[in-house]
Amino acid sequence: MSRPNRFYDVRRFGPVQVGSYRNRRGLEKHTAACTAPRCGFSADYTDRSAAELAARTHRCT
Ligand SMILES: [Zn+2]
Repeated sequence: MSRPNRFYDVRRFGPVQVGSYRNRRGLEKHTAACTAPRCGFSADYTDRSAAELAARTHRCT
């Protein structure tokens, strides 16, 4: 794993994609990002389960 800022273990929950990556300090981070047009939801989490929970419970406005 020597490619920083590359998402791995990407899963989709409805319109929201969750992916994990390592930041520049080597720490694992988890991003939930909605792919629906005009939504724009995106958030970073230190916890994979928190990111997946946010993705599962996300409702587009
Ligand atoms: Zn959304």
